Amino acid sequence: MKNIDVLYIHPSRSLDNTLYAFMPIGIPGLLNLLKDEGYSVYGINYSIEKSLDNTYSLKEELENINYKVLMIDLHWYEHSYGAIEIAKISKLIYPNIPIIIGGLTSTIFDKEILENFDCIDYILKGDSEKPLLDLVGFLLKGKGNIKDIENISYVDNGSIISKELTYCLKDLDSINYVDHSFLKNEKMYMYTNTIGIDLKRNKNAWIYIGRGCKHNCLYCDSARENMVTLWGRSKMTYRSPERVAKDIIEFANNGVEVVRFSHDLEMFGKEYYEAIFKMIRDNNVKIGFNYDCFQLPSKHFIDELVKTFDEEKIILDITLLSGNEEIRYKMGKLFTNERLFNILDYLKKFKCVTRVYYSINVLDETLHTLEETMSQIYHLAYKYMSDQFFICYQKVVMDPIALMRGLKDSNIYVELNSFMDYYKYCQNDNHNYTGYKDSMSEFFQYKIDRYEEIKKTFKEKGYTNLY
Ligand code: SF4
Repeated sequence: MKNIDVLYIHPSRSLDNTLYAFMPIGIPGLLNLLKDEGYSVYGINYSIEKSLDNTYSLKEELENINYKVLMIDLHWYEHSYGAIEIAKISKLIYPNIPIIIGGLTSTIFDKEILENFDCIDYILKGDSEKPLLDLVGFLLKGKGNIKDIENISYVDNGSIISKELTYCLKDLDSINYVDHSFLKNEKMYMYTNTIGIDLKRNKNAWIYIGRGCKHNCLYCDSARENMVTLWGRSKMTYRSPERVAKDIIEFANNGVEVVRFSHDLEMFGKEYYEAIFKMIRDNNVKIGFNYDCFQLPSKHFIDELVKTFDEEKIILDITLLSGNEEIRYKMGKLFTNERLFNILDYLKKFKCVTRVYYSINVLDETLHTLEETMSQIYHLAYKYMSDQFFICYQKVVMDPIALMRGLKDSNIYVELNSFMDYYKYCQNDNHNYTGYKDSMSEFFQYKIDRYEEIKKTFKEKGYTNLY
């Protein structure tokens, strides 16, 4: 029997599948803080365990661990059902072991979760570094008073207490996001992808940059205007270049082949990423770089990137949403087609991979704007056809507090509103929700058919990088 103080579990979408193996990027920091305070911690990533062994039983595993507190992340709404299922299993075996959840989704729906699920004892909202230490200290050592713990929600004598978000972590540099030794099958985490693990892929690690966002993409929970709701902060907070570079170097020395980032480094200015990249070069680290550009990358950024990282292992993901500039701007991606073509021409000189993403469902789509998108896709495929260039045409799903929920747009259809809606959506293994009315219409199918025609045309030319 394993004896530990705090057990952490990352859920999958439901216990029948391995979907969404990535843990929230701040989790290692929380577990390492507990470790530094002298608590013994242990983590299970359900998706990893289920990927390694399809007959894996969490119940059997829990029966062999003696833990005093259970932490489960309920960050992305896709884990709404899986997280609660895990809490229920734990309560069945150990009814008196307190369960703490946290993350964006539980921050948004704290009261509803506590009303509906008595298996959840505490919810830590927003930043939870100090509140977690205080709560674990209160539960395991009898330290302090529950009433003094910030950012917490819980039930007291039948009434839900939901505290304001008064605590914000200021010093992100003081937290260790690199050490994953708390995790069972730790090495497997480098191979995780959205559906579980893939041993053929390069070894990956996520680099923690900061909290919040400076942009306001209408479909995204993490937009600037939501920072107060989600974290109680009005400004972004981010780590120093020194600390970011140190993490990249440490991961590389531990065998990581490709780094991925929580944020677009260009958001913090030229000096910021120049300083990080210089430190990496000075330490002779040469690894891959897989990157989600929050807007369009600049030529200077691309130059710095290829100078620093392994050019053949650089992947740049650029979200375009639509070929129509007005739609793209309105949804939060602030660049013109002219600038886009200019950057794509520039990227052609390098060996790195570029993937551009269009969305099937966007605001204000008409036949005319759809044709603008299709003709742009055709043009890009024709011009940049190569092993290094990919085009994706996919759905964008509206988040629980996406800013566009407030818009009176004709094609917005908000089907999922409450926590129970998201819970059932995951429970029923629904993959169709987008939040846009036209996703249920013939027009939606027409768009897919139009794209399929273009795909077919290029397939006949031997170009198959359209997804
Ligand atoms: S989608 Fe937009 S708002 Fe959301 S994190 Fe990315 S850049 Fe920020």
